[in-house]
Amino acid sequence: MSAPCSLCPRECGADRSVAPGFCGGGPLPRVARAALHQWEEPCLSGGDPARGSGTVFFSGCPLKCSFCQNYQLSHENFGREVLVSRLAEIFLELQQAGAWNLNLVTGTPYIPWIIEALDLIRGQLVIPVVWNTGGYEKPETLRLLEGYVDIYLPDLKFHNPGLAQDCANAPDYFPVALAAIQEMHRQAGPLQLDQNGMLRRGLIVRHLVLPGERKDSEQLLRRLAEVIPVEDFYLSLMSQYTPYRPMTRKALNRRVATFEYEWVRSVAQELGFSGFGQDRTSAKEEYTPPFDLTGVERKEGPP
Ligand code: SF4
Repeated sequence: MSAPCSLCPRECGADRSVAPGFCGGGPLPRVARAALHQWEEPCLSGGDPARGSGTVFFSGCPLKCSFCQNYQLSHENFGREVLVSRLAEIFLELQQAGAWNLNLVTGTPYIPWIIEALDLIRGQLVIPVVWNTGGYEKPETLRLLEGYVDIYLPDLKFHNPGLAQDCANAPDYFPVALAAIQEMHRQAGPLQLDQNGMLRRGLIVRHLVLPGERKDSEQLLRRLAEVIPVEDFYLSLMSQYTPYRPMTRKALNRRVATFEYEWVRSVAQELGFSGFGQDRTSAKEEYTPPFDLTGVERKEGPP
């Protein structure tokens, strides 16, 4: 990849062959875990405990939210560098293990390498490719993924620039993410499910309701419904916010109250969204797998 890097909206201009960029991305893709994952939306993980979504957790992040549940990856850049050839093997190993799809989590800093890996296994990888992202993306970079990604799974996190500044140092988050999601919708088109109810193609927008910010959620959902037909995609409304560490924004030091989540859910229903909610009694740990390099290194065995 040629320096300076401008893959994401940070446009930090790093020469990654010399030093990592703002996101932590260096000269090779860096991966923290590659394994079947049961805790995505049902149309991605399925109901069979022997299968799941084939998740590849990349290290680093262009957004770095202060409350990130994958802090070890996003802020601390935990992971191991892999060659493109190994990345392609990892993708096929997940398919071989029974993954319904290949779920690439926060791959933005490594898009050129991911495309190279997918090119290496063209014709062998038959499961849908999922682009799982915090939503802070450039449309022109996303256009590189056209023809490679089948399912887009972005977050849409904040509407208010002040909230986005406090949580992610990205006051432009909402307009940037909304434009990115419009590009994702253009590429993926309407939802397509297979005979098992598994998603083959389309868009799922995730929104995590934040404590004290239900009005922000409302504004965000209203604007989203204005720009993309609600029948074309799923909304996944999440309640799992957990303050893992002290937050400077006071309200963020508690979990979301049931009435806040239900209030946002009623707004989503009024706007005609369909998709997924979240049981607030779910154990939060289920959503964060151990980041221990599972599946990253080649297993020893007969040639
Ligand atoms: S992807 Fe990383 S290195 Fe590239 S512009 Fe964004 S933050 Fe900087």
